[in-house]
Amino acid sequence: MRAWSTLLATAAIAVASTIAVTPAHAAACNGYVGLTFDDGPSNAHTPAILNALRQNGLRATMFNEGQYAAAYPAQVRAEVSAGMWVGNHSYTHPHLTQQSQAQVDSEISRTQQAIAAAGGGTPRLFRPPYGETNATVQSVEARYGLRQIIWDVDSGDWNNASVDAIVQANARLTNGQVILMHEWPANTLSAIPRIAQTLAGRGLCAGMISPQTGRAVAPG
Ligand SMILES: [Zn+2]
Repeated sequence: MRAWSTLLATAAIAVASTIAVTPAHAAACNGYVGLTFDDGPSNAHTPAILNALRQNGLRATMFNEGQYAAAYPAQVRAEVSAGMWVGNHSYTHPHLTQQSQAQVDSEISRTQQAIAAAGGGTPRLFRPPYGETNATVQSVEARYGLRQIIWDVDSGDWNNASVDAIVQANARLTNGQVILMHEWPANTLSAIPRIAQTLAGRGLCAGMISPQTGRAVAPG
């Protein structure tokens, strides 16, 4: 009896402390999805995307190009400050499967350095441009301790998808899945409030992508 009482008391304390420290909207998470925004950072698009995500309570993974991280380091820091995770999307966005191992290594290593130098930390996630990969690309990823992240759902925003289509693509996500979006299409920016509503309505929250599994999980 005493043990049972202790168990109940411990459980009550655990529940109370969860309520005390967790934002109200987070209590309804039945699962997590990985929102990703590629091809930044930039002065033209990153601030608006970050504002929209923050205002709608969403966190995302930003797959940055090294050349832009080097050019706009303040935007890399802004991504981190807004609660986003920063991944590596190569330095110049080439078709890596057409490059030598030395070229692939340069694309990946220079981006690691540029993002770290900007204050974005050392990325642990890598998205190859166009989702194109092969054994050479994967061997270089492994050298830098990077998990390759393609996607489960393509929003089609890069191909002029409508706001409705982008929202509907997000609505197809299930627990753990990752969706491809970009920071530059105007329709993607416009879709963010409705993406947030759609996910919330299904009890899904925007999570981080695990470097261990490549799946979306609760922010660590
Ligand atoms: Zn890209």
